Amino acid sequence: MTPDNSPVSPILPGAWLGMVGGGQLGRMFCFAAQAMGYRVAVLDPDATSPAGAVADRHIRAPYDDPAALTELARLCAAVSTEFENVPAASLDALAKSTFVSPAGRCVAVAQDRIAEKRFIAAAGVPVAPHVVIESREALDAIGDEALAAVLPGILKTARMGYDGKGQIRVTNAEEVREAYASLGGVPCVLEKRLPLKFEVSALIARGVSGVSVVYPLAQNVHRDGVLSHTIVPAPDASAALVQQAQQAAIQIAAKLGYVGVLCVEFFILEDGSLVANEMAPRPHNSGHYTVDACATSQFEQQVRAMTGMPLGDTRQHSPAVMLNILGDVWFAVGAGETKAQKGAAPVTPPWDQVAAMPSARLHLYGKEEARPGRKMGHVNFTAPTLDEARSAARDCARLLHIATR
Ligand code: ATP
Ligand code: MG
Repeated sequence: MTPDNSPVSPILPGAWLGMVGGGQLGRMFCFAAQAMGYRVAVLDPDATSPAGAVADRHIRAPYDDPAALTELARLCAAVSTEFENVPAASLDALAKSTFVSPAGRCVAVAQDRIAEKRFIAAAGVPVAPHVVIESREALDAIGDEALAAVLPGILKTARMGYDGKGQIRVTNAEEVREAYASLGGVPCVLEKRLPLKFEVSALIARGVSGVSVVYPLAQNVHRDGVLSHTIVPAPDASAALVQQAQQAAIQIAAKLGYVGVLCVEFFILEDGSLVANEMAPRPHNSGHYTVDACATSQFEQQVRAMTGMPLGDTRQHSPAVMLNILGDVWFAVGAGETKAQKGAAPVTPPWDQVAAMPSARLHLYGKEEARPGRKMGHVNFTAPTLDEARSAARDCARLLHIATR
């Protein structure tokens, strides 16, 4: 047995794998693991969780339930997570008796914007100019001049933020104080608002042997702080930029001693420079295209990394666009309207018309209730050329009344 329980020889199909978290990422992990012949146990408190519904076993308990963690560790040869805010202490507890990847300490860094920025900068990758605000007293101690250096800015809670939640845009010191109070006085990062030319994400996987494989660079378009669509290969990135972003992700993973799939999001500024935004210690929404467009999907890669199997070929065989389907689509009553009408009943979107598009692959997460802003599914478009994939994605967005810019 190695000190961290990492497999000395690969964990072969037939074994049980554990997944902490029952969301859509866990669901797609189940599909990939089961396709290879593994059995999956999902830990999630929600009786109707997307992954729990397809797992071989659903352990229905809180993420920090000691008995549930013991059961998961006893059953599974290796455990991974799909959910960033999983208590790092739970992963550490599991790691006492089974192999956990990514390790609790890696997840802990990605869970806290303060630790994350510090870590990324220490790995030699630029981050946005920012000031750390740990408390009300600390904020009062920061001079207006120091604040002005990062204004106009975005105040972000250090923990528990996702899909643009826990973020407030601010332009002056007064607004910073108001915003800080309204976020509850919790530790925050005030980040300078940067002039973005575009956004990309670098998806890599690092195996137990320390070898990394890299996916093509993805270009991401966000709307209201939520990923709208992803285009791969990134149409606006030069070869040098692709190289730089991928190298930065590999550097971060190596410094973390990381095992698993890692996604690093970057801003590309007007002057062409690259700034790391944040990282996800798991497969990422911007990597969903890999399921239909790459030899090995990001979810299969997660299975391979955690089991010590050889990492798979990341080659992209088709240009691809991934279009996110938010709950708003169920409430889009007329062209261009994507906001829910007050009190309106959800209407099932015309999935048959999506299925009729030859380049479209529909992925829905089996969530029972559509709510505005909730990630319900996505559509992957693959075609012989990126232009064709983009044009099909535009047609589909129009059909579903999704505004894409
Ligand atoms: P997600 O979970 O979708 O990754 P999040 O809640 O973690 O989102 P961020 O990634 O920090 O939030 O920000 C969401 C989006 O807001 C970014 O992708 C970018 O479009 C915009 N944004 C965030 N920070 C900045 C910044 N400093 N300057 C300009 N735009 C920013
Ligand atoms: Mg983000």
